[in-house]
Amino acid sequence: MTMGRIHSWESMGLVDGPGIRTVIFLQGCRLRCQYCHNPDTWEIDGRAETKTPEEIIAVLNRFKPYYGSTGGVTFSGGEPLLQKDFLAETLSLCKEQGIHTCLDTAGYGNGGYEDILKHTDLVLFDVKHYTREGYLNITGQPMDESLRFLQAVQEFNIPVWIRHVAVPGLTDSREHLMGLFEAVKQIKNVQKVELLPYHVLGVPKYKAMGIPYRLEQVPPKDASELEQWQNMMNEYFQN
Ligand code: SF4
Repeated sequence: MTMGRIHSWESMGLVDGPGIRTVIFLQGCRLRCQYCHNPDTWEIDGRAETKTPEEIIAVLNRFKPYYGSTGGVTFSGGEPLLQKDFLAETLSLCKEQGIHTCLDTAGYGNGGYEDILKHTDLVLFDVKHYTREGYLNITGQPMDESLRFLQAVQEFNIPVWIRHVAVPGLTDSREHLMGLFEAVKQIKNVQKVELLPYHVLGVPKYKAMGIPYRLEQVPPKDASELEQWQNMMNEYFQN
């Protein structure tokens, strides 16, 4: 029996995809983003609730009346692609039930993307950095796997929302954001770009887990400083 390892749930999420959504955070991630605020999702064998795809669908069906015509379910993480069999099976059941499906991912799985993407309506793709060097610096891993996933998304013609965290001194310069804009223009079916200001809400988790936090000296980013860039992206991608 395929079992999923669930880190946590959000029953009525409003920020991870369109409309009102149930957000399911799956356990496990192979990246180690410097600014990650969920280090407790990293370990594949970390503390998690186990559920079958059928059990997930039973929960989603209870929330279905709240989804309306735009909402649905978002699988996030951690990295949801790492639980590929569970994810593909659950997505397939969601589509059978008429539930809109969304993946919130950095694209860093283990292949098997076709089985997942054929049941996916929308991909929220987290661009860590648009250069190989920058990607390695931020995540500790080479960029290739995320490019493989993005290629598969493009082949399936799935709409994409890009997400990017602007970290002071790391990914928030004019040069960097221009480079990001140019790189994102090369991706097909982008409907939206969301620039996310760096925050420090996850820092206490590092302390509690005894993991060194590499951005200790970096202040949170004020969202207003991104407004001009966000407007430019909106104008280009949402028209
Ligand atoms: S991909 Fe997400 S969960 Fe994984 S380390 Fe990066 S921010 Fe954290």
